[in-house]
Amino acid sequence: MPARTGQQYLDRIRAQDCEIWLDGERVRDVTTHPGLRGGAQAIAALYDMQYDAARRDQMVFTPPEGGAPAGMSFLIPRTHVDLERRRVMMLAWARATCGMMGRSPDFMNVTVSAWAAAADYFEEGRTGFGGNMRCYHRHIRDNDLTLTHSLINLQRSRNVSGIFNLQDGTALQVVRETDAGIVVRGARVLATLGPLSDEIAVYSPRAAQHADGHNPFVMNFAIPCATRGLRFLCRQSFDQGRSHFEHPLSSRFEEMDCIVFFDDVLVPWERVFLLGDVDRLNNTAQRTHSSAHSAHQGAAKNLAKCEFVLGLALLMTETLGNAHLPHTEAMLAELTLTTVLMKACMRAAEADASLDEWGVMCPDIVPIESTRNLFMTAYPRMIEILQLLGSSSFLLTPSERDMQGPLAGHIEQYLATDTASARDRVGLFHLGWDVALSAFGSRQVLYERFFASDPLTRARVLNAIFPKQEVRQRVLDFLHMG
Ligand SMILES: Cc1cc2nc3c(=O)[nH]c(=O)nc-3n(C[C@H](O)[C@H](O)[C@H](O)COP(=O)(O)OP(=O)(O)OC[C@H]3O[C@@H](n4cnc5c(N)ncnc54)[C@H](O)[C@@H]3O)c2cc1C
Repeated sequence: MPARTGQQYLDRIRAQDCEIWLDGERVRDVTTHPGLRGGAQAIAALYDMQYDAARRDQMVFTPPEGGAPAGMSFLIPRTHVDLERRRVMMLAWARATCGMMGRSPDFMNVTVSAWAAAADYFEEGRTGFGGNMRCYHRHIRDNDLTLTHSLINLQRSRNVSGIFNLQDGTALQVVRETDAGIVVRGARVLATLGPLSDEIAVYSPRAAQHADGHNPFVMNFAIPCATRGLRFLCRQSFDQGRSHFEHPLSSRFEEMDCIVFFDDVLVPWERVFLLGDVDRLNNTAQRTHSSAHSAHQGAAKNLAKCEFVLGLALLMTETLGNAHLPHTEAMLAELTLTTVLMKACMRAAEADASLDEWGVMCPDIVPIESTRNLFMTAYPRMIEILQLLGSSSFLLTPSERDMQGPLAGHIEQYLATDTASARDRVGLFHLGWDVALSAFGSRQVLYERFFASDPLTRARVLNAIFPKQEVRQRVLDFLHMG
């Protein structure tokens, strides 16, 4: 099957029999549910871009073994050109959602592609696992499937096992192995895009070291979301059924986050990629370089988001007539700087990319991982700047009905500015509110703070990967100069 259209995506997620719960009710059709259909439409629109004649060459590629064109984010990059082609596609998707759907399907596509290229790493763990990984990559590529993922165990207490949350009865664990596969029980967070996905991938960034050779909390597998015993519990939806004028982002880009319960779920052996092997799990992201590739997707998303916030800030200040004030200029410069830095890190990682041991062209690790650390604090600051620039204008936002109601004349007279009609001003600040103040906007800030792990872990990652020897040596050379 070639790369999917939006309609094919919608038809498949409508037909699958997943157990999705939202606000006390089981969701029967995510494509028509008022809290989820906007997000489903947004993902469908991304798949439709694969059939946009003007950019089809950017969106799909022909797999090495031939066959139907596949989505570009399934490409295993072998050259610098491949890496840039893939980024062009990811940036196009990210711009289409204003950077507001961080878990668009390309996130998991690049991750699984990196694992498939490094399939021998999984094969070293257990015979057959490498083949499973290669087959799985081909399966999701050839059917253009959408994946969610859940990496984190719920916390019952921090005292038992520190940051890794490995507690019997809460953490996801293997309860038995059968001829058919492994049976897993427990709960995981936070499956963003869960109700809008075909499949769920389950793995961990790292797991605690245990003395025993085989650890029941350690696994990497992927199964259909419609697997028996799998239950998705959604948070409340931020799509409140309001118009695109009033809630421009919440009404379009609700990607939803879920707790996932696994009630004795059978994972067939062909879908198991790693089992019980603590060191292998802990080293997966580094050895396969999947973290560098997913950071590459994240950088494209961050850049699209920076551009969007910067563009919004420019329009807000033009509309309010304060663009020329020195303190406004200082804040606009800060937004510009973050945007430029994001692009520079992404491009540097591509320029200094190199082939890894699996023959994959891998973005340079330090600049690409830096985009994650940078955005954890830069995005909240960007939102703070929007709030400082917009102030009460975010609240001078009458509804569409108000705009046509008895006070329409007052609104037109008093909310117009020197450069904008009342309607243009109100529309712009509805958008600003959805970026900087709404529940949707606040969740975006939380996402950027945490989606790539907590700040302390991120700091440690950066310290660990930065090559320190050269800078240390330079200081030592200076000290010991004659
Ligand atoms: C909007 C959103 C979407 C997400 N989407 C996904 C997804 O699709 N898939 C997925 O798997 N995960 C997802 N995540 C989860 C994300 O991976 C976690 O939020 C992240 O790893 C942090 O874990 P935590 O939320 O349990 O926070 P915690 O680990 O509890 O961290 C909270 C705070 O406690 C601090 N802290 C942590 N440990 C200690 C300690 N031992 N002592 C003192 N302080 C400590 C941290 O530094 C941090 O400030 C998402 C998160 C968000 C917010």
